[in-house]
Amino acid sequence: MQTKLLAVKTVRKEDEGIMAAAELLKAGGLVAIPTETVYGLAANALDGRAVRRIFAAKGRPQDNPLIVHIAKRETLESLVTKVPPSAVTLADRFWPGPLTMILPKAACIPDEVSAGLDTVAVRFPSHLVARAIIDASGLPLAAPSANTSGRPSPTRAEHVLHDLDGRIDAVVDGGACGVGVESTVVSLAGGCPRLLRPGGITYEQLQAAVGPVEMDPAVTHALAKNAVAASPGMKYQHYSPKARVVILKGSGEDYIRYVNDHKQEGTVALCFDEDAASLQVPAVPFGSQTDAEEQAQRLFDALRRIDGMGASLAFARCPDQTGVGLAVFNRLIRAAAFEVVEL
Ligand code: AMP
Ligand code: MG
Repeated sequence: MQTKLLAVKTVRKEDEGIMAAAELLKAGGLVAIPTETVYGLAANALDGRAVRRIFAAKGRPQDNPLIVHIAKRETLESLVTKVPPSAVTLADRFWPGPLTMILPKAACIPDEVSAGLDTVAVRFPSHLVARAIIDASGLPLAAPSANTSGRPSPTRAEHVLHDLDGRIDAVVDGGACGVGVESTVVSLAGGCPRLLRPGGITYEQLQAAVGPVEMDPAVTHALAKNAVAASPGMKYQHYSPKARVVILKGSGEDYIRYVNDHKQEGTVALCFDEDAASLQVPAVPFGSQTDAEEQAQRLFDALRRIDGMGASLAFARCPDQTGVGLAVFNRLIRAAAFEVVEL
């Protein structure tokens, strides 16, 4: 299969690139689209056969459900059986934007999307190109991140092509993604709202909007063997470059000293901008130590750059775990397979 690279000239339904993407999706095809979080690999969410092709293209485990993307708030009601008051509050406050809500699923959602669960994940993205494509297709779109399963999520069209060229129908180029990490996932299907995955909408923002929110232990810790994951995606090896990643937790000074003392052939430093000049190994900075939003935006690109350098070991600086930093930490600790050294 030849993967088309589609450009968007104006963000309107009539744009050639947007129309071409919509036609492919209506015909059951797979199209990678830019969103404000990361690139998503989209297919018609109401067509089980089209959705199965997503799993095949990514090599995604069958039991990991997909997020359904909509471009109008009203569409939510047709996809779920119940919209509790907390969902109304969160949609008022954060939609369109990087927030996914888990709710009891309606009968129209194929089992392929929900991976057999009785709930469905729904998001209304803010990215104008994503919204125009959803709108032009007239369909809700199931879309996981557009990477090979296990690899860092794509934040540029070239990352998608690196992983999926020849395996999907098209990629729509929308430039670099703004948030850079996947959406915040919150479950509203049980009693208390529960944070399953941190993202651009922070834990603190959720609590300010709806009151108490539980944090799933898998957000910051490895799941115990045989434990059932509230969010199946959290149990898999994730975001991994080919190099072994080790997180070093401590001050900037301690980090620089440790890296310089332990350097070997093939070592790189996944560091903050402020550390780079003092390091005696190649530095891959992913943002300022005081700017978690910037760290989120640059993290996945930095993880992919480590591969391009042929590194075998990356010492990563540990991000602060408040605000968007919690999302950066959540991704990095999975890239590091939970290997952390306290300095
Ligand atoms: P991705 O599409 O790569 O951003 O992954 C979607 C994430 O949402 C994964 O971690 C899934 O496990 C999670 N997810 C999707 N649907 C559900 C659901 N119904 N219940 C719990 N987690 C879900
Ligand atoms: Mg993913």
